[in-house]
Amino acid sequence: MTSTRIEVDRARCTGIGICESVLPERFEVDDNGGLTVHDETVAAEDRDDVEEAVRSCPAAALRLTTGEAR
Ligand code: SF4
Repeated sequence: MTSTRIEVDRARCTGIGICESVLPERFEVDDNGGLTVHDETVAAEDRDDVEEAVRSCPAAALRLTTGEAR
C-alpha cells in the first residue's frame, strides 16, 4: 500500500504561513515563524485540500511524496 506524505523544505520555508491560512488544522506557524505540520500523512479524501495548500506556498517549500506506507 502506498501513502502520500507532506514534506517541508525547512531551508526554503519563510514562515509566512500561507499554508496555515489555507489549511489551519494541518499547518501551524508559531510566533517565531516555525512551521509545525500536525499530520504529515495525507488520506485520499484530504488530498485535494492539501494540494491546494502545497500550491499556495510562495516559497515552494512544500511538496507531496508518495511511497510505501510504514
Ligand atoms: S506557506 Fe510555505 S513558506 Fe509559508 S509557512 Fe507554509 S511552508 Fe513555510
